Amino acid sequence: MNILNYISGKFVEPESGEWLEDLSPATGEKIALIPKSNHHDINKAVDAARKALPAWSSLTNLDRASWLNKIADKLESKYEEIAELESKDTGKPISLAREVDAYRSVKNFRFFAEMIRDIGVEKYEMEDATNRVIYKPVGVGALITPWNLPLYLLSWKVAPAIGMGNTVVCKPSEMTPLTADLLMKTIDEIGLPKGVVNLVHGDGIGAGSPLVSHQDVSLVSFTGGTSTGSIVAKSASSSFKKLSLELGGKNSSIIFDDCDLENTVKGVVRSGFLNQGQVCLCGSRILVQEDIYDEFIDKFIIEVEAMKIGDPSDENTNLGALISPEHLSKVEEYIEIAKSEGGTILTGGYPSLSEKYKNGNWISPTVIADLDVDSRCSTEEIFGPVVTIHKFSTENEAIDIANNTRYGLAGSIWTSDLEKGNRVAESIHTGMIWINTWLHRDLRVPFGGVKDSGVGREGGKWSLSFFSEAMNICTKNK
Ligand code: NDP
Repeated sequence: MNILNYISGKFVEPESGEWLEDLSPATGEKIALIPKSNHHDINKAVDAARKALPAWSSLTNLDRASWLNKIADKLESKYEEIAELESKDTGKPISLAREVDAYRSVKNFRFFAEMIRDIGVEKYEMEDATNRVIYKPVGVGALITPWNLPLYLLSWKVAPAIGMGNTVVCKPSEMTPLTADLLMKTIDEIGLPKGVVNLVHGDGIGAGSPLVSHQDVSLVSFTGGTSTGSIVAKSASSSFKKLSLELGGKNSSIIFDDCDLENTVKGVVRSGFLNQGQVCLCGSRILVQEDIYDEFIDKFIIEVEAMKIGDPSDENTNLGALISPEHLSKVEEYIEIAKSEGGTILTGGYPSLSEKYKNGNWISPTVIADLDVDSRCSTEEIFGPVVTIHKFSTENEAIDIANNTRYGLAGSIWTSDLEKGNRVAESIHTGMIWINTWLHRDLRVPFGGVKDSGVGREGGKWSLSFFSEAMNICTKNK
């Protein structure tokens, strides 16, 4: 199967005639060939987006919202196909691909259709003048997404970007092209005007980099690792492009001794290992108050070891494979670092799977105790099924440990004292915190991080604001 670029309403081969392999994380087998695109393909895609901009941006919000709903309807009719492709391409369990990826991809389009339809008139009256604020498109947007939640994150950008009247060029991760291709086929089937959405496959250096630096790109929305984000920021800032960066995280789950232990253990297992720990929001540092430390660990390990790891297409599977051999090596390296830093591996190793999976990227969920809170494993992003557990005694100590990383994305607090939960939450340097829950998403709230976890916010009105330019028109009326 060859996947093609989608430029100006046509599926086209890469100018270079070169291709990259898309491999199955579970088996190592080749799934597809994808274009190894370069700046020639990017130039064509940006040109197509630029030409489509005047007509698309002159539509009303209602017209564009109706296009978003058409995309949502068509995607919804492919719900099972989205889940199957996502599970195959990322190695994640099919049940997760259905509940999270397929569900949110459809919902993102519906949600932003509604928000855009509801944009009202914004006026500020003065004694002698009226100010009107209007929201104009920014121009051509570059949308760059990672491999962990491929269509979920792509749709989270495409919907508000085109909804606000921009046209876009997308660059998904080279490791997970399948659902990005499905979205382009969907857009083609509903007859979205050509050039409004373009997609160029390829690697970061060959395709991502020329897209970010292209002179006709006015906006860059990037989700990915912090070091790549820094390269993207440098390139985008030299030509003053509007920039949003959603980057890495090292999130703490803070567990107080007055928590509901049973629910907390379940919630913290989910937050530690969902999608094999490959979610930027995952709680990979678990801070437990001293009185319940031993009891928590006993219960936690039982739940972790009860998770079923293996065949991603099996409905009962809880954990699948890691994205790539390189990523598996990185995770293994961190486990070795933990050992050398004095950590105790409470559970981990490798699952025993059938011959079919011998070339896949498999590792069991790993829990590490006895590490210093300054150790590399407890402060650096591993982005895999590895958590570290630490003991604390006071509220202030928990806050200090939680804030002791370069990241500031998210976290969770588990307590029956909601006043304390909220007090602690306000002292944590992150963009988001959940109390007695995790990854409980309302799409209207701001999403994003502080420190090295990113710049800017997406979600609800923050996405609409990022994907538009506010303009004030002041009319003197006396
Ligand atoms: P990367 O930073 O490696 O890649 C992200 C995207 O950027 C990919 O499409 C990649 O292409 C592309 N890219 C790579 N180099 C460049 C470049 N020089 N210029 C432009 N684009 C480039 O991240 P991963 O894909 O490995 O994703 C994992 C990371 O994403 C983790 O750190 C995770 O925390 C973060 N993340 C953050 C989220 C958030 O909302 N804060 C959500 C999800 C993930 P290619 O891969 O094809 O080379």
